[in-house]
Amino acid sequence: MIVEEQHVITLSYELRDTDGKGDLLERTDAENPFTFLYGAGQLLPSFESKLRGLKVGEPFAFSLTPEDAYGDTNEENIVDIPMENFKIEGEVPENVLVEGNFITLMDNYGQEHLGKVVTYTDEFARIDFNHVMAGKVLHFEGNILQIRKASSEELEHQHHHPQEGEGGFMDHDHDHDHEE
Ligand SMILES: [Zn+2]
Repeated sequence: MIVEEQHVITLSYELRDTDGKGDLLERTDAENPFTFLYGAGQLLPSFESKLRGLKVGEPFAFSLTPEDAYGDTNEENIVDIPMENFKIEGEVPENVLVEGNFITLMDNYGQEHLGKVVTYTDEFARIDFNHVMAGKVLHFEGNILQIRKASSEELEHQHHHPQEGEGGFMDHDHDHDHEE
C-alpha cells in the first residue's frame, strides 16, 4: 500500500522552523504517532501532496514555504483592543494579560479567535491574531509507520477512527460528533 486517497496514514515527524536545524515546533513519535485520513482536507494540501506515494518505512523530509502553509504574518491581524473588553465586573482577571500568552476572544458574531498578547497598557492590549505558524517555513522530517484502507464509515465521516497503534486527532478544535 502507498499513501493515497481512501487510506488511513500513521506517521511520526518532527516539525522544525526553516530547516532540519531550526527550533522544534512539534514532534510525534511511534508511541504518540499522528494518524489521519488521507485526502479528507483536514491537513494542508501541500503537506499531503509531499507524502503521496510513500510506502511504510519510507522516510521523508521537506519544507513548506509560508505560501504553501499558513501564509505570511499580516499586520492587520495585530489589533489594539480596549481594556474594557478584558474586564469582568470592572476588573481584568489576573494572569490573562501576560505577554506571550494565548487567549481566546469572542468577536461581535460570537466567533472565537485565538490570539497572542503582544503588549498592553492601561488603555488597551495589543493582540496578534495571526496563525502561530504564519510567516514560518515549516520543515518536516519523519517516517511512514502504517498504512491501511479506510473503512466505509471513516470515508463517510471524512476522518479516521483511531485503532490500536494509531494517533487521535491533532486538531483540538475538531468537534467530533458521533452517533454510535
Ligand atoms: Zn467519526
